[in-house]
Amino acid sequence: MINIENLKKIKEEIGQEVKLIAVSKKQPDEKVREILDLGHAILGENYVQNMQKRYEQFSSEPIEWHMIGHLQSNKVKYIAHFVNMIHGVDSYKLLEFINKEALKNNRVIDCLLQVHIAQEESKFGLDESEVRQILDMPDLYTLKNIRLCGFMGMATFTDDMSKVRKEFSYLRKLFDQIKQNYFSQQSCFSEISMGMSDDYQIAVEEGSTMVRIGTAIFGQRTY
Ligand SMILES: *Cc1c(COP(=O)(O)O)cnc(C)c1O
Repeated sequence: MINIENLKKIKEEIGQEVKLIAVSKKQPDEKVREILDLGHAILGENYVQNMQKRYEQFSSEPIEWHMIGHLQSNKVKYIAHFVNMIHGVDSYKLLEFINKEALKNNRVIDCLLQVHIAQEESKFGLDESEVRQILDMPDLYTLKNIRLCGFMGMATFTDDMSKVRKEFSYLRKLFDQIKQNYFSQQSCFSEISMGMSDDYQIAVEEGSTMVRIGTAIFGQRTY
C-alpha cells in the first residue's frame, strides 16, 4: 500500500504551482496501479530498462514519464517515443542524441540540465562554466526536437539542513542568472527540479518547481 496520508500532505505542502513527480523506481507494479487509481499519473524512473518495462505494462494509461537518472547516449532510443522530460542531461552530446531520437519519432522532448550542487564527488552534474559552455554552443539552437526547460539538482545527503538549503538556494540563483542571460525572450526555461522525500519542503521554500518523491509516497524500495 502506498502512503496516501503522505501523498495528500505533500500535495498540500507543495501547492498547485509545484509539480509532483512520483518516483516509482524499484517499487512493485501494484503500487503504481494504486497511485494511478488515485489520479496521479506523473511518474519518474531512473533506469531506462525499468522505465521501458513500466511503460509497456501501463501502456493504456496517459502517464507523463520523467527520466530522472543518469542517461547514456546509446540508451536514448529506447525511451524517445514516450518520455516527456529528461532531468539528468549533463553534456551537449547527450542533447544532440536526444534531439536525433526525438526527431525520428517526430516529437519534442523536454530536457533539464543537471547541475552539480552537492559536496559529494559522486553526484553527476555540470558546474556553472560547463552550463555556460553548453548554452554557448552555436548549434544548440538548431536542435528543434528538444526544449531546454531548466535545471535539476540534488543536494548533499546530510542531516545538516542549512547546508541543503544553501545548495538549493545556489541552484535557484544560478537559474535566475542563466534565465536572464540566455532565455529572457523565451518562457520555456522555467523549471527547477529539486527536492526529494527528505528535503522537498526546503526545496520548495527555495524556489523548486518540481519535486521528485519516492519513498515518502511508496515506502521503502523493494527490489
Ligand atoms: C530515487 C530518486 C529520487 C527519489 O528519492 P526519495 O528519497 O525516495 O524521495 C529523486 N531523484 C532522483 C534523481 C532519484 O534517483
